[in-house]
Formats: sequence, C-alpha cells, structure tokens
Amino acid sequence: MKVTLSHIKADIGSLPGHTTVHEDVVNQVRNHVKDHGKGIISDFHISSIGDDIQITMAHNLGINAKEVHGLAWDAFKSGTEVAKKLGLYGAGQDLLKDSFSGNIKGMGPGIAEMEITPRKSEPFIVYMMDKTEPGAFNYPIFKMFADPFNTPGLVIDNNMHEGFKFEIWDIIEGRNVYLNAPEEMYDIISLIGSKSRYVIKRVLTRETHQKLPDENVAVVTTDKLSFIAGEYVGKDDPAAIVRIQSGLPASGEAMEAFSHPYLVSGWMRGSFNGPLMPVGLKYSKMSRFDGPPKVGALGFVYKDGKLTGPVDMFDDPAFDGARKLASDIADYIRRMGPFEPHRLPDEEMEYTTLPKVMEKLKGRFVDMDSPQGSKNKGKKREAILDVE
Ligand SMILES: [Mg+2]
Repeated sequence: MKVTLSHIKADIGSLPGHTTVHEDVVNQVRNHVKDHGKGIISDFHISSIGDDIQITMAHNLGINAKEVHGLAWDAFKSGTEVAKKLGLYGAGQDLLKDSFSGNIKGMGPGIAEMEITPRKSEPFIVYMMDKTEPGAFNYPIFKMFADPFNTPGLVIDNNMHEGFKFEIWDIIEGRNVYLNAPEEMYDIISLIGSKSRYVIKRVLTRETHQKLPDENVAVVTTDKLSFIAGEYVGKDDPAAIVRIQSGLPASGEAMEAFSHPYLVSGWMRGSFNGPLMPVGLKYSKMSRFDGPPKVGALGFVYKDGKLTGPVDMFDDPAFDGARKLASDIADYIRRMGPFEPHRLPDEEMEYTTLPKVMEKLKGRFVDMDSPQGSKNKGKKREAILDVE
C-alpha cells in the first residue's frame, strides 16, 4: 500500500526576535496534532530549527490531503494563540490567510510531501533550514543524487548507476522541467546554479531502477514560491525529505553533502549571503546576526505506520570542522557590512530603502544623454571609454 510522508513547517512566532521558538508554542502544536490527528495520520514528530516549527507526519491519504493539511493548519493556528498571549515576535506571521480552504499551499506554511511505496526498511532524513531559501537545497540535493565525488554509490552500486531524474522549477515563469543525471548533468547545473530562480522540487528514480522504479525519493518545500511565481516576494526557510539506502544515497552520502558550508541567501532580514552551518538541533538558535543560516537533520525509519527515531544527525563532532569553517566564513563576510556580495543584489532583498533613496535623489541624477553629456549621445559605453 502507498504511504505518504508529509512535512509541513511554519514560523508562528519567536523569541526574542527571529532567534528561536518558544517551548509552550511547540507543545501546543504537538498537543493539537496528538489530540486531533487520530484517524488522519498514523504517526508524527514535532521539531524546530531557529524560529520555525516543523511537523513530520505519516499517513495514507496521499499528497495534498485536505485532512492532513487542515490538521497542520489548525495546529499552527492554535500555537499562534499561545504565541500571541506570550507576545512573541511575529506571532502567526506565516499564516497568511484567515481561514483554511482545503489546501495549505499558498497559505504561508512550507510543505514537502511524497507518496511512496514503502520498502522493507524505509529510512529517510528530514532536513530543515532556517534563514535561507528553497534554492539553498539545490547544491546538497545535486551532490547527493548526481555527484560521484560526494556519493560514490553512483559509481559502485548497480542500483544507482543509471542516475536520477530531477524536477526543476523556474519560479519566475512558474513552469517546471524534468532532467536526467548523469546525461543532462551540465544542463541541470546551468539551471540550478542560478538558485534564486531555478529550484529543485523533486528527485525521482529512473523508470529502469531495479529496486524502486519511478519513485519520488526527495522533495523540497517550495510552496510560497509557487504561488508567487512571476513576482519576487522574498525567502521561505525550506525543508526537505530525502529517502536513503537500498539503491538510493547511503545515510552518510546524504549527510556528506553538508560537510562543506557553502554560501546561501537569506541571512539577516532575508537580505544577506552567509555560510550554511550544519548543527545539532540543540544548537539551532539564530543568535549571531540572526544566524548564520543553519541546517538540521533528523533521521527516521518508517514501518507499518510508525516513525521510529529520530536521530539528530548533525549532533556529531565529525561536523565540527564544517561548523568551524562556517564560523570563519561568517567572520570574513560580515566585515563587508552592507556591501555586495554579502548583501544580496537589490532585486533579491527582502528589505530595501533603495526606492526611497532614488525618490529623494531623483532631481540630482544627471541624464548622461543630456546637454552636459551630449558629446557622448548615441555612443555605446565601450566606444566612449575607447575615445576617452
Ligand atoms: Mg525561519
């Protein structure tokens, strides 16, 4: 029988700024799911990273199930009431609509769901990031499923040797494309290297996969982006579910993709680049400059409706080197203050005063083609530089 794994997350208030969730709010969300989830979900786990509360669920109702989305929505609503009572910052900020209309997509929370054919043992890892954007998953998901220097299983495991299929979204045009690795690897990279426009939504096995043909094996939350396609409105701290082992990346291959703290967008006010630091969840507070951006990972096994675990995967000194490097990169890049490339390009910033500054200065800008600049009129910049 098919089973669905659903991971739904939201920021419904934090303490003191965007630093961390409050225990009472997390408990309220947990109790709501526990009390109202009977007959809807078979098991669940509540966790958090930074200011985001995360609900991981197993059930048989398929993706986009009204009952499951409604359960998460109501749990976040009831948690918001507690956050409001405590006066937490940004209480209910990710619940963009007043009432639930059957599907949580486009309502604020992020959703990663996949319907799967469970294997004898069905291990998977839930990755959760704070202070960044869905495109931050492009690099590690590519490393896991397409880079043999990260995942030697692609070379030495018969079941992985044919590679994987990537579903990539163009969030500006609101369209998607399926591309196969390894044969279309350079096309894939040319898209997903541009992570603020092209985001990996899913990874699937190939139809010829010997153990698990044409199955969804990884999924990333991209929902806020999908409904705003065509207009850039900012970041949404993402999460992902990645299935592992038996013809898929090994647990350690999936984790290895985070051993290098690459740069992501979305630090401080959603407007800065910074290193992604892998952390055990007890270290998931966002204290330094509201970050740095962090990723946590919980390892589960699914069996007969139950989720066993989780294991806090980054709570391991083997990632100390990555954390130290991330801290050093943070020290380095912070010294750039409000300059690019620490600061994001104008069109990607969540906060900007630029329109106001431009309004104030509009009478003081001189048109280069005006009489003052007329000797250069009609000439291309290169030609002007040539003459000069
Ligand atoms: Mg957040």
